[in-house]
Amino acid sequence: MPDDIVAEVMKTRLEQHDWNFGFVLDGYPASQSQADFFLESYDLDGVILLEVADSVLTERLTRFRICEACGFDPNLIYAQPRSDAVCEVCGSELASRNSESPGAIEERLREFHTKTEPVIDLLRQRELVVKVDATKPTSEIHDFVRASLGLASEAMAQRLRSSISQATHGGGSGTG
Ligand SMILES: [Zn+2]
Repeated sequence: MPDDIVAEVMKTRLEQHDWNFGFVLDGYPASQSQADFFLESYDLDGVILLEVADSVLTERLTRFRICEACGFDPNLIYAQPRSDAVCEVCGSELASRNSESPGAIEERLREFHTKTEPVIDLLRQRELVVKVDATKPTSEIHDFVRASLGLASEAMAQRLRSSISQATHGGGSGTG
């Protein structure tokens, strides 16, 4: 997608100002011109770089399956589908995505290395980048990112939330 269209979408969305607590952008900025546009108007608190070797990414994307009948996406639940052939929800045949063909994967990786990596180097100079080994379990990745960005751990955040909710509900605990 052309950079000027992406910039327009981004601008329109962020002008809605419903993001008092911040926002997370996925896969953006992915090029120098996107970074120029974004950093001109907004401050970044951090950049999370999920690192996976090209070979592992290719393997994951090649295995990508989705059910076109019911929309079930096994990739959201499993690192790899239990079955490459059949949807476990409705029994239909699973499809691979055209966008994940070997040629398309190669092209995306090439774009990442030529267009996105220079942006990451630039942000790294500003000490904004948290690098994570994304082959680790998601809970470990989650904890590492929170700690690296100076955010409370999930356990602590839960305790905070429950003490706030107790306080706002009169604090009356006690069973019976
Ligand atoms: Zn299905």
